[in-house]
Amino acid sequence: MKITIIGSGLAGLSAGYKLCKSNEVVIFEKDAEIGGMTASYCKDFAGKKYFIEKYYHHIFRSDSELLDLIRELGLEGQMLWLKGKSAYFVDGKNYPMNTPAEILRFKPLSFTDLVKLGLLVLRIKLINDTTSYDRIKAKTWILDTTGQSVYENFFAPLMKSKFGENDENISAAWLIGRVKIRSDRGKEGEKLGYLRGGFNSLIEALAKEITAKGGRILQNKAVKEIVIKDNTVQGVIADGDFIPCDAVISTVEPRVLDIITKSKLGTIHETLQGIRYQGTACALIGLDKGLMKDGNYWLNIKADVPFGAVIEHTNFMPFEDYGEHLVYVTSYFQDENDSLWLKKEEEVLDSYIKGLENMFPDFSRTDIHWAKLFRRMDTAPVYEKGYLEKVLPFAPGPTGLYLAGMFSSTNYPERSMNGSVKAGFEAAKFFTKKEEN
Ligand SMILES: Cc1cc2nc3c(=O)[nH]c(=O)nc-3n(C[C@H](O)[C@H](O)[C@H](O)COP(=O)(O)OP(=O)(O)OC[C@H]3O[C@@H](n4cnc5c(N)ncnc54)[C@H](O)[C@@H]3O)c2cc1C
Repeated sequence: MKITIIGSGLAGLSAGYKLCKSNEVVIFEKDAEIGGMTASYCKDFAGKKYFIEKYYHHIFRSDSELLDLIRELGLEGQMLWLKGKSAYFVDGKNYPMNTPAEILRFKPLSFTDLVKLGLLVLRIKLINDTTSYDRIKAKTWILDTTGQSVYENFFAPLMKSKFGENDENISAAWLIGRVKIRSDRGKEGEKLGYLRGGFNSLIEALAKEITAKGGRILQNKAVKEIVIKDNTVQGVIADGDFIPCDAVISTVEPRVLDIITKSKLGTIHETLQGIRYQGTACALIGLDKGLMKDGNYWLNIKADVPFGAVIEHTNFMPFEDYGEHLVYVTSYFQDENDSLWLKKEEEVLDSYIKGLENMFPDFSRTDIHWAKLFRRMDTAPVYEKGYLEKVLPFAPGPTGLYLAGMFSSTNYPERSMNGSVKAGFEAAKFFTKKEEN
């Protein structure tokens, strides 16, 4: 079969990797490089070349499809499980949040509130099916279970930094999924997975396997239209050319899918228009000196700064792998009218650097070797109350059109690399089963 895949993120590459063995696969990617949100920046610093993700990434223990893929591609030797120390910066003070004992010393909450928080985490760990929580707002649920103080002093700033003005509409299902994954830790704290050499190794290994089996990956080739006639996919249009195929797997965000199907997806068209995504403005900074001297990898922030988290990659991975300190400073934004999207790169970087200067007295701009801003619209669905109804079906209607990506059920109630690998694999399985019948 001639199968067109739109998008070379993990969903598209995972589907292509499985399908290229017995099909003619062509992957179209609008960007110059492959990898989508897991794409890396190649830096040459002081004669040392290394790859670093444009957006911070790590793996969780429960990411079984992704870990299986890493093994299958022979990358297991690069896999590291490392302690990623985290803290919560509240009103000028850093609170370590790694172990239950540390969490018990979180001063913004009273002892009673901390007990309530602990009981909530235990309760969440026992929830296996989040479906019934999809129609409840996280805010309402937390207020009902733990009260005002736990919500305001603990959850509200985190939700604000993740979802901006949508924070109060987020479903309890999302929150439960998130807490479950982040509380999967022992007495020593959370261990997170990372591939030495970066996730670029995974992206490159997938691309190598696909091309070795005759598959093609076309970069700088945006699909402008999926041609559907008599409710059947005919092919795609890219660069003004019509490229016929038997099936299309689209991994692109709902907004773009609606445009390239010319709103021809019937009832799905309305769903596509109703799904909200948020963008990310993530600065990556190369530094002479480490920023967080207490060794934190991840710092959530409640302070008057234009970002929600600081992630010091070289407090997670060894500094020696890079020869300089690497820090991400990041914020989500809600739409294309946000100043984080509209302002020039230098302006956003400057506002982030000023924020760092306010937060870290030892930090100086002169420590900066280089800084880059990576920005994208549509980096995560807004998992608002009732989102489950908007999860897109694998087969949305027209014969030959299939969907796999961040909007798939495998990425509910939170999107992840694993969710997109799984979506890609499930798409491929559909074709393999078809062949067998
Ligand atoms: C800041 C940030 C941090 C993250 N951290 C983690 C983490 O620590 N752990 C984790 O598991 N996940 C993390 N994620 C999520 C993870 O990156 C994504 O869930 C996953 O990579 C999505 O893969 P995808 O293939 O579904 O989508 P994408 O990576 O978005 O791929 C879609 C591709 O389609 C292409 N495309 C779009 N339109 C067209 C068109 N018209 N024609 C051709 N190509 C097109 C895009 O350029 C893109 O390459 C993070 C994401 C962000 C933004």
